[in-house]
Amino acid sequence: MRRSTVRSLLIVLLVLAAAAGPTHAELSERWQKMNQPVEPFRILGNLYYVGANSVTSFLITTPDGHILIDGGFEETVPQIEANIAKLGFELEDVEILLNSHAHFDHAGGLARLKKASGARFMASEIEAPILERGGLGDDLLGDEAPFPKIEVDRMLKDGETIEHGGMRLTAHVTAGHTRGCTSWAFEVEDAGESHLAVSICSLSVLDGMKFGEDPTYPTIARDFGRSFETLEALPCEVFLASHAGFFRMKEKQEKLGEEGPNPFIDRKGYLKYIDRARERFKEAVAKEQAGGDGSGGSSRSS
Ligand SMILES: [Zn+2]
Repeated sequence: MRRSTVRSLLIVLLVLAAAAGPTHAELSERWQKMNQPVEPFRILGNLYYVGANSVTSFLITTPDGHILIDGGFEETVPQIEANIAKLGFELEDVEILLNSHAHFDHAGGLARLKKASGARFMASEIEAPILERGGLGDDLLGDEAPFPKIEVDRMLKDGETIEHGGMRLTAHVTAGHTRGCTSWAFEVEDAGESHLAVSICSLSVLDGMKFGEDPTYPTIARDFGRSFETLEALPCEVFLASHAGFFRMKEKQEKLGEEGPNPFIDRKGYLKYIDRARERFKEAVAKEQAGGDGSGGSSRSS
């Protein structure tokens, strides 16, 4: 190879590296911001928070072993494990592992958590294949955002329930964000009263979603529409979700212990979140119909 050719190639490589460098650093920085450690705490009754500042993880304790919803990023696992221990419980006692949806920020830690706990992993039958593929072949992201594959031990139909240790959790498929996006509903006993908790999967519209004619996910618009209705129809009192910001966790956590009702009992906030999500969805559809990119100004993950 001629000297000048080598130099041109080097320049091209350097330019490419410079272009890739900041982008990559930016992404990981963004993930890091969503993965800051927070003190674990009791939300109410036998329901505890054991996740990071943005990507959530909920522990439901029972005398027959515990239930854990979502595993954060793969890198969140040490935090979840430490948080469970700080609360006086053990990861080894987690018997059932659940997931909101097959994105790396909520499913990334599941395989490690399953291995460490020996828990059985249960997921909606629609989301199961992509969880077992480790996120490959995602309708929107393709193979861009893989995570460790996790074997599904029990597949659940929409509306099917899991009974364990006196708890009864219903899997509501609230699709759109992903095909099998699952919101979990369960009653929590606190101070002699029972409250319906719902952990919303996600109603976020992501960059690149197409609602008119999406060849990879043709029913996306109908699914979003149905999910708003499904969630609105649930008599939810304790509002939870896959991201802490969706239900203003920090604000509520700071109010815990004050006089009055538990701040996590927030039906108004729950309905408001659904309402806003529906507005953003409508805006994205309108923008797409008007020839925009259909992103509605949202992000590509979460
Ligand atoms: Zn997501």
